[in-house]
Amino acid sequence: MKQSLFDIVIIGAGVIGHSIAFRLKQCRPDLNLAVLGDPMNSLMASRAAAGMLAPFGECSEADRFFRFCRESLLQYPDFIKDLISTSDVPVHLSMKGSLIPSSTLANDWEKRIRFFREENIPHQIWSPARCQQLAPALAESCGEVMWVGEGQVNNREMHDALVAASRKLGVEILEKNVTGFVHDSSIVEAAVTNTLEVRSRKFILASGSWSSQLGDALDVSLPLKPIKGQMCRVQVADDQLDYTVHGLMTYIAPWRGGKGFVLGTTMEDLGFDPVIEEDVIQGLIDRAAQVIPCLKDVPLIESWAGLRPAAEDLMPVMGKSSRYKNLFYSTGHYRNGILQTPKQADYIVQTILETLADEIPEFSPQRYNL
Ligand SMILES: Cc1cc2nc3c(=O)[nH]c(=O)nc-3n(C[C@H](O)[C@H](O)[C@H](O)COP(=O)(O)OP(=O)(O)OC[C@H]3O[C@@H](n4cnc5c(N)ncnc54)[C@H](O)[C@@H]3O)c2cc1C
Repeated sequence: MKQSLFDIVIIGAGVIGHSIAFRLKQCRPDLNLAVLGDPMNSLMASRAAAGMLAPFGECSEADRFFRFCRESLLQYPDFIKDLISTSDVPVHLSMKGSLIPSSTLANDWEKRIRFFREENIPHQIWSPARCQQLAPALAESCGEVMWVGEGQVNNREMHDALVAASRKLGVEILEKNVTGFVHDSSIVEAAVTNTLEVRSRKFILASGSWSSQLGDALDVSLPLKPIKGQMCRVQVADDQLDYTVHGLMTYIAPWRGGKGFVLGTTMEDLGFDPVIEEDVIQGLIDRAAQVIPCLKDVPLIESWAGLRPAAEDLMPVMGKSSRYKNLFYSTGHYRNGILQTPKQADYIVQTILETLADEIPEFSPQRYNL
Protein backbone atom coordinates (compact mmCIF):
# COMPACT_ATOMS: atom_id res chain seq x y z
CA MET A 1 0.00 0.00 0.00
CA LYS A 2 1.27 3.51 -0.90
CA GLN A 3 2.18 5.74 2.05
CA SER A 4 2.27 9.53 2.35
CA LEU A 5 3.05 11.87 5.26
CA PHE A 6 1.47 15.26 6.04
CA ASP A 7 1.50 17.82 8.85
CA ILE A 8 -2.30 17.95 8.94
CA VAL A 9 -4.92 15.78 7.26
CA ILE A 10 -8.55 16.93 7.11
CA ILE A 11 -11.09 14.15 6.60
CA GLY A 12 -14.08 15.67 4.79
CA ALA A 13 -14.32 17.60 1.53
CA GLY A 14 -17.39 19.73 2.28
CA VAL A 15 -17.46 23.44 3.16
CA ILE A 16 -16.27 22.65 6.68
CA GLY A 17 -13.19 20.62 5.69
CA HIS A 18 -12.16 22.88 2.81
CA SER A 19 -12.70 26.13 4.74
CA ILE A 20 -10.34 24.85 7.46
CA ALA A 21 -7.76 23.96 4.78
CA PHE A 22 -8.16 27.40 3.16
CA ARG A 23 -7.71 29.32 6.42
CA LEU A 24 -4.92 27.09 7.74
CA LYS A 25 -2.91 27.44 4.56
CA GLN A 26 -3.40 31.22 4.59
CA CYS A 27 -2.06 31.41 8.16
CA ARG A 28 0.67 28.81 7.77
CA PRO A 29 1.72 28.35 4.13
CA ASP A 30 4.61 26.18 5.33
CA LEU A 31 2.29 23.39 6.53
CA ASN A 32 1.87 20.34 4.37
CA LEU A 33 -1.91 19.74 4.25
CA ALA A 34 -4.24 17.20 2.69
CA VAL A 35 -8.02 17.04 2.40
CA LEU A 36 -9.37 13.51 2.16
CA GLY A 37 -12.85 12.76 0.92
CA ASP A 38 -15.11 12.51 -2.08
CA PRO A 39 -16.38 16.04 -2.77
CA MET A 40 -19.40 14.55 -4.57
CA ASN A 41 -20.70 13.26 -1.21
CA SER A 42 -21.10 16.92 -0.35
CA LEU A 43 -24.02 16.87 -2.75
CA MET A 44 -25.82 15.68 0.37
CA ALA A 45 -25.02 18.74 2.54
CA SER A 46 -22.61 21.47 1.48
CA ARG A 47 -24.04 21.48 -2.04
CA ALA A 48 -27.59 20.67 -0.90
CA ALA A 49 -28.18 23.70 1.31
CA ALA A 50 -30.15 26.83 0.51
CA GLY A 51 -27.28 29.04 1.64
CA MET A 52 -29.35 31.05 4.09
CA LEU A 53 -27.18 32.98 6.55
CA ALA A 54 -29.92 33.30 9.10
CA PRO A 55 -28.92 33.41 12.77
CA PHE A 56 -31.87 35.65 13.61
CA GLY A 57 -34.55 33.62 11.84
CA GLU A 58 -33.12 30.41 13.32
CA CYS A 59 -32.36 31.29 16.97
CA SER A 60 -34.73 32.61 19.62
CA GLU A 61 -32.39 32.92 22.59
CA ALA A 62 -29.06 34.71 22.93
CA ASP A 63 -26.96 31.69 23.93
CA ARG A 64 -23.36 30.91 22.95
CA PHE A 65 -24.50 29.23 19.74
CA PHE A 66 -26.47 32.33 18.70
CA ARG A 67 -23.46 34.58 19.35
CA PHE A 68 -21.19 32.25 17.36
CA CYS A 69 -23.59 32.26 14.38
CA ARG A 70 -24.00 36.03 14.59
CA GLU A 71 -20.24 36.56 14.58
CA SER A 72 -19.94 34.23 11.59
CA LEU A 73 -22.54 36.25 9.67
CA LEU A 74 -20.51 39.41 10.30
CA GLN A 75 -17.39 37.72 8.93
CA TYR A 76 -19.11 36.75 5.67
CA PRO A 77 -18.45 39.77 3.39
CA ASP A 78 -14.68 39.73 4.07
CA PHE A 79 -14.53 35.92 3.96
CA ILE A 80 -16.15 35.79 0.52
CA LYS A 81 -14.02 38.66 -0.81
CA ASP A 82 -10.91 36.86 0.32
CA LEU A 83 -12.13 33.55 -1.08
CA ILE A 84 -12.91 35.03 -4.50
CA SER A 85 -9.56 36.75 -4.70
CA THR A 86 -7.70 33.53 -3.81
CA SER A 87 -9.76 31.12 -5.91
CA ASP A 88 -10.79 33.29 -8.88
CA VAL A 89 -14.20 31.61 -8.65
CA PRO A 90 -17.25 33.91 -8.48
CA VAL A 91 -19.45 33.46 -5.40
CA HIS A 92 -22.74 35.28 -5.09
CA LEU A 93 -23.34 36.73 -1.62
CA SER A 94 -26.32 38.91 -0.75
CA MET A 95 -26.55 40.82 2.51
CA LYS A 96 -29.89 42.41 1.60
CA GLY A 97 -31.65 40.68 4.45
CA SER A 98 -34.60 38.41 4.99
CA LEU A 99 -38.31 38.84 5.63
CA ILE A 100 -40.47 37.25 8.30
CA PRO A 101 -44.21 37.73 7.69
CA SER A 102 -46.20 38.25 10.92
CA SER A 103 -48.76 35.74 9.62
CA THR A 104 -46.16 32.98 10.00
CA LEU A 105 -45.35 33.74 13.65
CA ALA A 106 -48.86 34.23 15.07
CA ASN A 107 -48.51 34.51 18.87
CA ASP A 108 -44.72 34.71 18.74
CA TRP A 109 -44.65 37.96 16.73
CA GLU A 110 -44.39 40.32 19.74
CA LYS A 111 -41.96 37.98 21.51
CA ARG A 112 -39.73 37.97 18.43
CA ILE A 113 -39.76 41.77 18.17
CA ARG A 114 -38.82 42.03 21.86
CA PHE A 115 -35.93 39.61 21.36
CA PHE A 116 -34.65 41.54 18.34
CA ARG A 117 -34.80 44.83 20.27
CA GLU A 118 -33.07 43.41 23.36
CA GLU A 119 -30.28 41.90 21.27
CA ASN A 120 -29.86 44.94 19.05
CA ILE A 121 -30.52 42.87 15.94
CA PRO A 122 -30.86 45.03 12.81
CA HIS A 123 -34.55 44.89 11.88
CA GLN A 124 -37.50 46.97 10.68
CA ILE A 125 -41.23 46.41 10.80
CA TRP A 126 -42.86 47.00 7.43
CA SER A 127 -46.56 47.82 7.25
CA PRO A 128 -48.51 45.95 4.54
CA ALA A 129 -48.40 49.11 2.39
CA ARG A 130 -44.62 49.42 2.73
CA CYS A 131 -44.26 45.74 2.01
CA GLN A 132 -46.21 46.15 -1.23
CA GLN A 133 -43.70 48.85 -2.23
CA LEU A 134 -40.52 47.01 -1.26
CA ALA A 135 -41.46 43.38 -1.86
CA PRO A 136 -44.58 43.33 -4.05
CA ALA A 137 -44.23 39.59 -4.71
CA LEU A 138 -45.37 38.84 -1.13
CA ALA A 139 -49.02 37.87 -0.60
CA GLU A 140 -51.18 40.52 1.06
CA SER A 141 -52.15 37.90 3.64
CA CYS A 142 -48.59 38.14 5.05
CA GLY A 143 -49.72 41.22 7.02
CA GLU A 144 -46.94 43.18 8.71
CA VAL A 145 -43.50 41.93 7.77
CA MET A 146 -40.23 42.10 9.65
CA TRP A 147 -37.08 42.85 7.64
CA VAL A 148 -33.99 41.37 9.32
CA GLY A 149 -30.32 42.06 8.53
CA GLU A 150 -29.27 38.57 7.43
CA GLY A 151 -27.61 37.17 4.31
CA GLN A 152 -27.62 34.46 1.68
CA VAL A 153 -24.80 32.85 -0.26
CA ASN A 154 -24.78 30.51 -3.23
CA ASN A 155 -23.32 27.57 -1.30
CA ARG A 156 -22.47 25.54 -4.41
CA GLU A 157 -20.36 28.40 -5.75
CA MET A 158 -18.80 28.78 -2.29
CA HIS A 159 -17.92 25.07 -2.20
CA ASP A 160 -16.41 25.28 -5.72
CA ALA A 161 -14.39 28.32 -4.62
CA LEU A 162 -13.17 26.64 -1.42
CA VAL A 163 -11.99 23.55 -3.33
CA ALA A 164 -10.26 25.79 -5.90
CA ALA A 165 -8.67 27.92 -3.15
CA SER A 166 -7.36 24.84 -1.32
CA ARG A 167 -5.86 23.58 -4.56
CA LYS A 168 -4.28 26.95 -5.43
CA LEU A 169 -2.75 27.24 -1.98
CA GLY A 170 -1.08 23.87 -2.43
CA VAL A 171 -3.36 21.62 -0.38
CA GLU A 172 -3.24 18.02 -1.58
CA ILE A 173 -6.76 16.84 -2.42
CA LEU A 174 -7.19 13.08 -2.17
CA GLU A 175 -10.61 12.02 -3.42
CA LYS A 176 -10.70 8.85 -1.36
CA ASN A 177 -12.92 7.50 1.39
CA VAL A 178 -11.32 6.61 4.70
CA THR A 179 -12.11 3.02 5.63
CA GLY A 180 -10.17 2.82 8.90
CA PHE A 181 -7.33 4.19 10.99
CA VAL A 182 -4.01 3.06 12.35
CA HIS A 183 -4.02 4.19 15.99
CA ASP A 184 -3.03 3.23 19.49
CA SER A 185 -4.85 4.36 22.64
CA SER A 186 -3.69 7.99 22.43
CA ILE A 187 -2.37 8.76 18.92
CA VAL A 188 -3.87 8.47 15.44
CA GLU A 189 -1.05 7.47 13.12
CA ALA A 190 -2.74 7.09 9.75
CA ALA A 191 -6.05 7.24 7.92
CA VAL A 192 -6.45 4.25 5.64
CA THR A 193 -8.20 4.14 2.25
CA ASN A 194 -8.42 1.21 -0.16
CA THR A 195 -5.10 2.15 -1.78
CA LEU A 196 -3.41 4.60 0.58
CA GLU A 197 -2.13 4.87 4.11
CA VAL A 198 -2.15 8.58 4.86
CA ARG A 199 0.11 9.40 7.80
CA SER A 200 -0.03 12.76 9.53
CA ARG A 201 1.04 14.63 12.65
CA LYS A 202 -2.53 15.87 13.19
CA PHE A 203 -5.97 14.84 11.92
CA ILE A 204 -9.20 16.82 11.72
CA LEU A 205 -12.45 14.90 11.44
CA ALA A 206 -14.86 17.03 9.38
CA SER A 207 -16.99 14.38 7.72
CA GLY A 208 -20.49 15.74 8.24
CA SER A 209 -23.19 13.09 8.60
CA TRP A 210 -20.64 10.30 8.22
CA SER A 211 -18.63 11.41 11.26
CA SER A 212 -20.06 8.84 13.65
CA GLN A 213 -19.02 6.01 11.30
CA LEU A 214 -15.47 7.34 11.37
CA GLY A 215 -15.80 7.68 15.16
CA ASP A 216 -16.61 3.96 15.31
CA ALA A 217 -13.38 3.25 13.42
CA LEU A 218 -11.58 5.24 16.16
CA ASP A 219 -13.37 3.36 18.97
CA VAL A 220 -15.25 6.47 20.10
CA SER A 221 -19.01 6.88 20.20
CA LEU A 222 -20.06 10.10 18.51
CA PRO A 223 -23.84 10.53 18.86
CA LEU A 224 -24.49 12.14 15.49
CA LYS A 225 -26.99 11.26 12.77
CA PRO A 226 -28.23 12.64 9.46
CA ILE A 227 -31.46 14.64 9.34
CA LYS A 228 -32.83 14.57 5.83
CA GLY A 229 -34.15 17.65 4.06
CA GLN A 230 -35.95 17.65 0.70
CA MET A 231 -35.66 20.82 -1.37
CA CYS A 232 -36.29 22.13 -4.84
CA ARG A 233 -35.35 25.01 -7.11
CA VAL A 234 -37.84 26.75 -9.35
CA GLN A 235 -37.39 29.10 -12.28
CA VAL A 236 -38.30 32.66 -11.29
CA ALA A 237 -36.96 35.95 -12.64
CA ASP A 238 -34.41 37.60 -10.35
CA ASP A 239 -36.41 40.83 -10.12
CA GLN A 240 -39.34 39.14 -8.37
CA LEU A 241 -37.74 39.29 -4.93
CA ASP A 242 -34.57 40.65 -3.34
CA TYR A 243 -34.89 38.97 0.06
CA THR A 244 -34.90 35.53 1.61
CA VAL A 245 -38.30 34.75 3.17
CA HIS A 246 -38.98 32.66 6.26
CA GLY A 247 -42.51 31.26 5.78
CA LEU A 248 -44.64 28.86 7.76
CA MET A 249 -42.88 25.46 7.51
CA THR A 250 -41.13 26.81 4.43
CA TYR A 251 -38.44 29.19 3.26
CA ILE A 252 -37.67 30.82 -0.02
CA ALA A 253 -34.12 31.77 -1.01
CA PRO A 254 -33.50 33.67 -4.27
CA TRP A 255 -30.24 32.42 -5.80
CA ARG A 256 -30.07 35.29 -8.31
CA GLY A 257 -27.99 35.38 -11.50
CA GLY A 258 -30.92 33.72 -13.35
CA LYS A 259 -30.63 30.65 -11.10
CA GLY A 260 -34.17 30.81 -9.70
CA PHE A 261 -35.37 30.37 -6.12
CA VAL A 262 -34.64 27.52 -3.71
CA LEU A 263 -37.61 26.32 -1.68
CA GLY A 264 -37.14 24.38 1.54
CA THR A 265 -37.54 22.08 3.32
CA THR A 266 -38.35 19.00 5.38
CA MET A 267 -36.78 17.64 8.58
CA GLU A 268 -36.81 13.83 8.46
CA ASP A 269 -35.09 11.40 10.81
CA LEU A 270 -34.67 8.52 8.31
CA GLY A 271 -30.97 7.68 8.30
CA PHE A 272 -29.09 7.90 5.00
CA ASP A 273 -32.25 7.94 2.90
CA PRO A 274 -31.74 9.70 -0.47
CA VAL A 275 -35.35 9.33 -1.75
CA ILE A 276 -37.03 12.42 -3.22
CA GLU A 277 -40.84 12.31 -3.04
CA GLU A 278 -42.87 14.17 -5.64
CA ASP A 279 -45.74 14.93 -3.26
CA VAL A 280 -43.33 16.35 -0.67
CA ILE A 281 -41.77 18.64 -3.28
CA GLN A 282 -45.23 19.74 -4.43
CA GLY A 283 -46.04 20.50 -0.77
CA LEU A 284 -42.96 22.78 -0.58
CA ILE A 285 -44.09 24.65 -3.70
CA ASP A 286 -47.69 24.97 -2.43
CA ARG A 287 -46.58 26.35 0.96
CA ALA A 288 -44.14 28.77 -0.67
CA ALA A 289 -46.91 29.94 -3.06
CA GLN A 290 -49.05 30.90 -0.05
CA VAL A 291 -46.35 33.46 0.78
CA ILE A 292 -45.32 34.35 -2.80
CA PRO A 293 -48.27 33.64 -5.10
CA CYS A 294 -46.29 33.84 -8.36
CA LEU A 295 -44.51 30.59 -7.36
CA LYS A 296 -47.68 28.59 -7.93
CA ASP A 297 -47.10 27.59 -11.55
CA VAL A 298 -43.40 28.21 -12.15
CA PRO A 299 -41.22 25.53 -13.82
CA LEU A 300 -39.35 23.16 -11.52
CA ILE A 301 -35.60 23.18 -12.28
CA GLU A 302 -34.49 20.41 -9.90
CA SER A 303 -35.29 18.73 -6.61
CA TRP A 304 -32.96 16.96 -4.16
CA ALA A 305 -32.56 15.44 -0.73
CA GLY A 306 -29.73 16.41 1.63
CA LEU A 307 -28.44 15.30 5.03
CA ARG A 308 -27.79 17.66 7.94
CA PRO A 309 -25.19 16.36 10.41
CA ALA A 310 -26.96 16.54 13.79
CA ALA A 311 -25.31 15.74 17.13
CA GLU A 312 -27.59 14.55 19.93
CA ASP A 313 -27.76 18.02 21.56
CA LEU A 314 -27.88 19.76 18.14
CA MET A 315 -24.72 21.74 18.92
CA PRO A 316 -21.60 21.58 16.76
CA VAL A 317 -18.77 19.31 17.87
CA MET A 318 -15.63 21.42 17.55
CA GLY A 319 -12.25 21.26 19.18
CA LYS A 320 -9.58 18.92 20.45
CA SER A 321 -10.22 15.27 21.17
CA SER A 322 -9.93 14.26 24.82
CA ARG A 323 -8.91 10.74 23.79
CA TYR A 324 -6.34 11.26 21.04
CA LYS A 325 -3.58 13.87 21.41
CA ASN A 326 -3.45 14.66 17.70
CA LEU A 327 -7.13 14.50 16.72
CA PHE A 328 -9.54 17.45 16.28
CA TYR A 329 -13.21 17.60 15.34
CA SER A 330 -15.37 20.00 13.38
CA THR A 331 -18.70 18.40 12.68
CA GLY A 332 -22.37 18.45 13.71
CA HIS A 333 -23.08 21.81 12.10
CA TYR A 334 -26.63 20.66 11.48
CA ARG A 335 -29.00 23.29 9.98
CA ASN A 336 -26.48 26.16 9.94
CA GLY A 337 -23.19 24.79 8.65
CA ILE A 338 -23.00 27.22 5.75
CA LEU A 339 -23.58 30.13 8.12
CA GLN A 340 -20.98 28.85 10.58
CA THR A 341 -18.29 28.21 7.93
CA PRO A 342 -16.07 31.33 8.34
CA LYS A 343 -16.13 31.50 12.15
CA GLN A 344 -15.79 27.73 12.46
CA ALA A 345 -12.72 27.72 10.20
CA ASP A 346 -11.01 30.37 12.34
CA TYR A 347 -12.03 28.58 15.56
CA ILE A 348 -10.46 25.30 14.39
CA VAL A 349 -7.35 26.96 12.97
CA GLN A 350 -6.79 28.76 16.29
CA THR A 351 -7.38 25.52 18.20
CA ILE A 352 -4.81 23.68 16.07
CA LEU A 353 -2.26 26.50 16.25
CA GLU A 354 -2.94 26.87 20.01
CA THR A 355 -3.89 30.54 19.74
CA LEU A 356 -7.56 30.18 20.70
CA ALA A 357 -8.44 32.66 23.45
CA ASP A 358 -12.01 31.62 24.20
CA GLU A 359 -12.79 27.90 24.07
CA ILE A 360 -16.54 27.19 23.94
CA PRO A 361 -17.38 24.33 26.34
CA GLU A 362 -20.85 23.81 24.79
CA PHE A 363 -19.15 22.77 21.52
CA SER A 364 -16.33 20.74 23.03
CA PRO A 365 -15.81 17.08 21.95
CA GLN A 366 -15.16 16.39 25.66
CA ARG A 367 -18.89 16.49 26.36
CA TYR A 368 -19.13 13.14 24.57
CA ASN A 369 -15.74 11.83 25.77
CA LEU A 370 -14.49 11.87 22.20
C1 LIG B 1 -31.52 20.44 2.79
C2 LIG B 1 -30.50 21.23 3.54
C3 LIG B 1 -30.61 22.61 3.63
C4 LIG B 1 -29.67 23.34 4.34
N1 LIG B 1 -29.75 24.70 4.34
C5 LIG B 1 -28.82 25.43 5.00
C6 LIG B 1 -28.86 26.84 4.98
O1 LIG B 1 -29.71 27.44 4.31
N2 LIG B 1 -27.94 27.53 5.69
C7 LIG B 1 -26.97 26.90 6.41
O2 LIG B 1 -26.18 27.58 7.06
N3 LIG B 1 -26.88 25.55 6.42
C8 LIG B 1 -27.78 24.80 5.75
N4 LIG B 1 -27.72 23.44 5.75
C9 LIG B 1 -26.70 22.78 6.59
C10 LIG B 1 -25.34 22.70 5.90
O3 LIG B 1 -25.50 22.33 4.56
C11 LIG B 1 -24.45 21.69 6.64
O4 LIG B 1 -24.42 21.96 8.02
C12 LIG B 1 -23.01 21.79 6.10
O5 LIG B 1 -22.99 21.72 4.71
C13 LIG B 1 -22.16 20.66 6.67
O6 LIG B 1 -20.97 20.69 5.97
P1 LIG B 1 -19.88 19.54 6.12
O7 LIG B 1 -18.71 19.93 5.32
O8 LIG B 1 -19.70 19.23 7.58
O9 LIG B 1 -20.63 18.25 5.54
P2 LIG B 1 -20.69 17.62 4.06
O10 LIG B 1 -20.93 18.63 3.04
O11 LIG B 1 -21.63 16.47 4.18
O12 LIG B 1 -19.24 17.09 3.85
C14 LIG B 1 -18.80 15.92 4.48
C15 LIG B 1 -17.62 15.43 3.72
O13 LIG B 1 -17.09 14.29 4.39
C16 LIG B 1 -16.68 13.36 3.42
N5 LIG B 1 -16.67 12.01 3.97
C17 LIG B 1 -17.69 11.31 4.49
N6 LIG B 1 -17.28 10.08 4.85
C18 LIG B 1 -15.96 10.03 4.56
C19 LIG B 1 -14.97 9.02 4.67
N7 LIG B 1 -15.23 7.82 5.17
N8 LIG B 1 -13.72 9.32 4.25
C20 LIG B 1 -13.43 10.53 3.74
N9 LIG B 1 -14.33 11.52 3.61
C21 LIG B 1 -15.58 11.26 4.01
C22 LIG B 1 -17.72 13.50 2.31
O14 LIG B 1 -17.18 13.00 1.10
C23 LIG B 1 -17.94 14.99 2.30
O15 LIG B 1 -17.04 15.58 1.41
C24 LIG B 1 -28.61 22.68 5.02
C25 LIG B 1 -28.49 21.30 4.91
C26 LIG B 1 -29.43 20.58 4.17
C27 LIG B 1 -29.25 19.10 4.05
